[in-house]
Amino acid sequence: MGQDIPSTPLSLYIHIPFCLSRCGYCSFFSLPYSQSAMEEYLRALHIELKLYQSYLDKPLASIYFGGGSPSLLSPSQINGILDALTWNETAEITLEINPIQITAQFVSELKQSPINRLSIGLQSMDDAQLKWLDRRHKADDMPARIALIRDAGFKNISLDFMYGLPNDELSDVTRNLEAYMKLNPEHISAYLLCLDEGCARHEQGIYLPDDDRVEAEYSKLCEVITDNGYVQYEISNFARQGRESQHNLAYWKSNSYLALGASASGWIPPIRYQNHSNLQAYYNNVKEGMLFPNAVHCDAKRQEEDFIMMGLRLLQGINLDVYKQRFGRELLDVYAKPIDKLKQIGMLELDGKYLRLSRAGLFVSNSVISELIL
Ligand code: SF4
Repeated sequence: MGQDIPSTPLSLYIHIPFCLSRCGYCSFFSLPYSQSAMEEYLRALHIELKLYQSYLDKPLASIYFGGGSPSLLSPSQINGILDALTWNETAEITLEINPIQITAQFVSELKQSPINRLSIGLQSMDDAQLKWLDRRHKADDMPARIALIRDAGFKNISLDFMYGLPNDELSDVTRNLEAYMKLNPEHISAYLLCLDEGCARHEQGIYLPDDDRVEAEYSKLCEVITDNGYVQYEISNFARQGRESQHNLAYWKSNSYLALGASASGWIPPIRYQNHSNLQAYYNNVKEGMLFPNAVHCDAKRQEEDFIMMGLRLLQGINLDVYKQRFGRELLDVYAKPIDKLKQIGMLELDGKYLRLSRAGLFVSNSVISELIL
């Protein structure tokens, strides 16, 4: 399928699907790790990189290795992938890292590679929760592991925080986050626990907290993290000034991104595409030289809706000038009626050239956005 090279900055997501073991709450695409499986996968990934070479000739704005557990790649395997790419001087290059894979040797070798940001799958600083989540690290080990990362010279780290776990007290959220603050990350991403069909905890019929309870936890985590000097810049993301995730901002601003690896989804306007999550089907597609598998051609309306849906996740909101520049019409005219209604009930706010969710609208963002665009 022929496709224009995008005019907005291009980002790249690379999916590495292997994990050492399967966590009971996980419904991501993840497969058991072996060295030979990883090597076979990398051979396909290198072919796929070549397929998209004309897009990758232009320097990238950001690169993100996600998974699965991409920290199962060796630094030389990471370098082997990055050798085929170019990027801007200021590009953010992130690797998701499993806490148990943080060793002095690994992080110091990693620092010699172009990786300049680590996103750590911490999830909790409470050992009982970590055990329930089937995570193998212990809270007490984390200060020393973070020290290894700092000693190696990394200045930009993000910690995942999971909320909405069963049997949690609000005071547990506060206590847990206070332990996070001692690790002094530049960025925190909060995730609401969901037990999708197929994951082990779902099969066990685990009871999850109700909406009121989850909303109370969400408010508490926003309060504790922002009281500690972080800026909430997206519904679930917090950063020290200037440390917002550049790669995720590309998603929320609907900039273009290529996605490589099994199950990865990309956005090269007007095409959304997704690689197969069956490994063999992914390998076959790559061997056949297929570009943009499972492509959906998005018409102008769908592109506008996606832009609104993603842009309203940002606390700053949607820049009305950018909307007009992209779509050639005024957002406030196109959606005049629902915007008025949602403003009146206090879910949306207009501030100069930005349209944003109100604080009350943040927790019920999906309903507000559906009301706006449907
Ligand atoms: S939660 Fe992360 S580490 Fe655990 S199985 Fe899923 S992808 Fe792998």
